[in-house]
Amino acid sequence: MDTNKMRELKELAEAAGSDEWYAAGDLRYCDDKTGETHGLHHDDSRFIAAASPATVLALLAEVERLAISRSKKERELEQELETWRHGPFCWTCGDTGDVHDITGEWRGECDCLSAQLINANRERDQFKAENEALRSLVLSALEESNGRPGSGGNAPGHCHEVPGVWDRGNGDRSGTQCGWCRIWSAAQAMAKEARHDR
Ligand SMILES: [Zn+2]
Ligand SMILES: [Zn+2]
Repeated sequence: MDTNKMRELKELAEAAGSDEWYAAGDLRYCDDKTGETHGLHHDDSRFIAAASPATVLALLAEVERLAISRSKKERELEQELETWRHGPFCWTCGDTGDVHDITGEWRGECDCLSAQLINANRERDQFKAENEALRSLVLSALEESNGRPGSGGNAPGHCHEVPGVWDRGNGDRSGTQCGWCRIWSAAQAMAKEARHDR
């Protein structure tokens, strides 16, 4: 039904909306030519009596309710279709990376893109954890020398002429980087960074 007609009907019903409505026997009309009063045709008068403004408004409300619920259902159906259309990327593992047989027993890792992505994420998390561990190790090296200041790139207790590099007269180590000074410098840089983060 045309929504304009429905709106019009609603306005008419609201305007007419009195508590009392015509009973079937009440309805009469006056013939302009003869001036006689006639009862309305039986079926017509019954219909008019039944179609009270309240009834019409209730009907319109029901139509509106159904229209809303239908469009909601249509939207839900549309979403379901969308999921079904795209589906999981991999039907073998359902994008979980793991393949199970019909009994639910694990059959190994899938070799699809989804599985690769999951593995890449897992590796990244592992790298992150390893990096954290290394960082805390280096920071604890720094704590070890707490209170003993190094100087200009030399670790506490070390006094290389060139900071962090073994002096001449140290055999094979001469001129090479001092491992402890290197760790200590790295730890200091990390500690500085950690203070910035906080
Ligand atoms: Zn897969
Ligand atoms: Zn050193």
